[in-house]
Formats: sequence, structure tokens, C-alpha cells
Amino acid sequence: MENYDSIVIGGGVSGLLSALVLSKSGKKVLVLEKNRKLGNNCNSYLVNGYQVDTGPHAITQLHEGGPLRYLMENYFDYIPAFVDYGDYFIRDKDGLKEVPTTLTGYLTMDVLPRKDRLIIAQSLTKMLLSWQFGTDISNISVYQSLPWNTLSSDTKEFMDTFSYFLSGKSAKETSVQRMFVGGGFIEEDIEKDITHENSEHQYIDKFKRMSYVSRLLNNNKVNYNQYYPRNGLKAILNAILYSLPETVEIKTNTAVEQIITENNTAKGVLTNEGSYFADTIIYSAFAKDLPRYVTDLPASYVSDLSRIKQSKSLTIWLGLDEEFEEFNYTGGEVWFKQKPFWAMPISNYNKSFAPAGKKLVGFMFSIDENSSLESEKSDAYETILRVYPGINKHIDMIHYQMTVPEKASMAINGFIAGITTPVKNLYLVGTDVDERSMGITRAAYSIVKLITVLRKEQIPNL
Ligand SMILES: Cc1cc2nc3c(=O)[nH]c(=O)nc-3n(C[C@H](O)[C@H](O)[C@H](O)COP(=O)(O)OP(=O)(O)OC[C@H]3O[C@@H](n4cnc5c(N)ncnc54)[C@H](O)[C@@H]3O)c2cc1C
Repeated sequence: MENYDSIVIGGGVSGLLSALVLSKSGKKVLVLEKNRKLGNNCNSYLVNGYQVDTGPHAITQLHEGGPLRYLMENYFDYIPAFVDYGDYFIRDKDGLKEVPTTLTGYLTMDVLPRKDRLIIAQSLTKMLLSWQFGTDISNISVYQSLPWNTLSSDTKEFMDTFSYFLSGKSAKETSVQRMFVGGGFIEEDIEKDITHENSEHQYIDKFKRMSYVSRLLNNNKVNYNQYYPRNGLKAILNAILYSLPETVEIKTNTAVEQIITENNTAKGVLTNEGSYFADTIIYSAFAKDLPRYVTDLPASYVSDLSRIKQSKSLTIWLGLDEEFEEFNYTGGEVWFKQKPFWAMPISNYNKSFAPAGKKLVGFMFSIDENSSLESEKSDAYETILRVYPGINKHIDMIHYQMTVPEKASMAINGFIAGITTPVKNLYLVGTDVDERSMGITRAAYSIVKLITVLRKEQIPNL
């Protein structure tokens, strides 16, 4: 039996960022990770001489005031190098077309029928205005916000694909509000979040929340402000690990089996290796699984957690020879017909990710949770062969990854858990805890919120 100030459950990016923040204020922290390795969804590894990431990644909101930037500047001992993400393209039968970055560009983009482009612009502008004037549109789906049955099948597929990228769910399950809040462009002041009296982030002025769609509809030019870590996703992980003080102890291959509570207060954890005790327990695994670890949670909270929705993703990494020229750009491309995917030729950011004369491309598919993995893999692979005729002659390496990219999809009637729990001293972090942005940025928002809450409830000098 050992005592710590804080125990962090899970050694992914959320858990490690929590450990970093706590330890930098002098706390003795124990991180428990069930897997052999740290990082989970935020890592890179070698496959036959190629450095693959755990899925294609674009890191958003690295501008001043963005949550990851705030954490890097205040807690990291060094900041990894990031390179500009590049451009977004839509691929159709005629090849690549740049995703429009202005309203005029959108209105003249010939990927979708002109009639549909106008209908979408008009319908979404109406929704945006009523939201800005105070109407609650959170339960109106993208599907409901458009005259769906009048749209061509291409446009329906396009809107479904766009919805998947924003929320992890189809147009029927994605709130149209997500189109306006989006994954990036939330201009807010993190310092205010940190020092704000009230832990609710009601200071966020929704008029300032400028997603890709709201910028276009308001006739602003889109600036993606997205980046890629030049040495791969593991560069973020390595920078956190390097910055951890010696007061952080990490145990891998150690699965938490139970969170020990007494008088509704978290006291410690029981693992496959023994028990550990602390004043603060930070839980970064799936919030929806929390009832497995804490047996006496209130029924209403358990019911809320059961409403958390998730989606799965399948990434196919292909090592290709340089002669295959379809991927000679930096950025990402989207295929939206039939089986949609997002592709990123990541070795264009850093040639060392692939052996000499080769390149590395990641293709990410959202997959049906209920179909078999083997059928999903072969469908996805066949789609790639169909979209890029002749690619099969250039494949040198193929590697599959199956993952849950976000712990909570931003779906209608879904639930976002929040930092605090009904159990005193037990806090949650990760992508199922904060609605803002996506992925690593969303995880970083949850850490910023954790700082606010802990300063108020437990650790004023954090
Ligand atoms: C294919 C794909 C594409 C993505 N694209 C992007 C992108 O473009 N941009 C972006 O910003 N983000 C993206 N993301 C999301 C991003 O990678 C994740 O949001 C982030 O890495 C999540 O980190 P986390 O620590 O919250 O969760 P996780 O990585 O899931 O970490 C949780 C950890 O808890 C551990 N754990 C669970 N249960 C226990 C237990 N009982 N005991 C001990 N340990 C336990 C797990 O093993 C895991 O290591 C993508 C993810 C994927 C998979």
C-alpha cells in the first residue's frame, strides 16, 4: 500500500497532461496504464520501416489562446515542432478539388449540383441566424435542417460525410449546431477559463465561435489554423513525458479494477498489482465505463453516462512507391461517395516516415460498430482500389488500425460527462468530458477545465 497526492487512471494524452499539470505544482503523482505502452491514441510506431501514427491527425487551435498551446507554453519543458497542415481537398472522379475557403468559392464549387449548394447555403444561414438570435437548435439535426428529400444522392452523401467528420455520426444524428461550433476557430481566452469564478464556460460568446461553416456563411475567409507535429504524433507524447518531473511515477501493465470510495469520497484504486491511495483521483478512461469501477454511483448519473455515444474508426496505412503520384500535396483529402474516408499523405511532412523512394498515406474510415471487422477491412480496401485505379501495383506495405477516435461523439441526445462526478475527489478528463473542439484539442480543453475545477475545489496553488 502506497500513498500519493494524486492518481491518474490511463496513460494516454489526457492522463499524462493531467499528471504534468499536477506534478508541476509539486504533487506526487502515480499514473496507471493498463497497456504495455503509454500514449494510446496519441503515438507513432514503426511498421516495416514506415513510421505510422495512431490514425491520421490534424492538430487544431495551436494559435494563441488555444488549449494545447496554453498547456505547452505553461507546462512543457520544450515544445515539439509543428508544420502547417496544408490544404483540404475533395476527391471525385475528375481528381482533386480544393475545399472552398470563401463563400464565392463554395457557391462556384462544382462537386455538388448548383441547386443543392444554394439550398444548403440558404437553409444553414437561416439556422445560423436563428441560433444567433437565441433559438435552441441543439436538438435539430443536420438532416432536419435541410429539405433532405429534394437533395441529390451525392449531396446527401456529402452532408453525411461532413457530419461524420464533425461529430462522429451521420447527418441524422449530428446537431446542426455542431456545424456552427465546429472543430476549430473557437476564439476565446484560456486565461479567462482558468481564472473564471464559475466553472461553467458561460463567458464563451457564441458569436465568436467561428467554425468552417459559420465563417463561410458570414462571408469570412476560412483559415484552417491546423498543424501536424513534424516528427509524428509521438512527438507530442515525448514532449509530455520529457517534461514530467521525478515526482511522477508511471506503472504500465497495471489495470485499475476498482476505484475505492468511502463516504462517497474517492480514496484510492485497486489494481491487478495492489492498492494505491491518494487525495485526488483523475480518471481518463471511457466515462461510460465508470460504473464498472465505482459501484454505488447514483442511478441518474449512470443513466446519463449510458447516453454517451461513440463511433469507431478503421485506418489503413499504405506504403507506396514514389511513382504513384496522386498524393503529391500536403494536407488531406476527403472521398465522400459510398464508403467515405479521409486520407493524409503524412510522409510529405517528413520524408523519414517512409523508406527512401516510398511514401506513406493514412486512410481513415468511420465504421459500423455492428458489422464484422473483416468485412469492414475488405470493403475499405476495395474502396481505395476503386478510387485510385492502379494503386495496387504500387503498394509496398499495408497496416490496419481499429480505434475509438473520440470517447464521446457530439451526437443529438448524447451526453458529455463534465469534469466533476458525484463522487468527491474523483474527476474525469478526456474527449467525453468537454464539448469544445475535437480530439487532442478537446482533450486539452478538458485539462484546462480540470485546472479551473481543482483550483476551486482542492488545490488553490495549481
Ligand atoms: C483514427 C484517429 C484519428 C484521429 N484524428 C485526430 C485529429 O485529426 N486531431 C486530433 O486532435 N485528434 C484526433 N484523434 C483523437 C486523439 O487521438 C484522441 O482524442 C486522444 O489521443 C485521446 O486521448 P485520451 O488520453 O483522452 O484517450 P486514450 O488515448 O483513449 O487514453 C486512455 C488511456 O486509458 C487507459 N485505460 C483505460 N482503462 C484503464 C484501466 N482500467 N486502467 C488503466 N488504464 C486504463 C487506456 O489503455 C488508454 O491508454 C484521432 C484519433 C484516432 C484514433
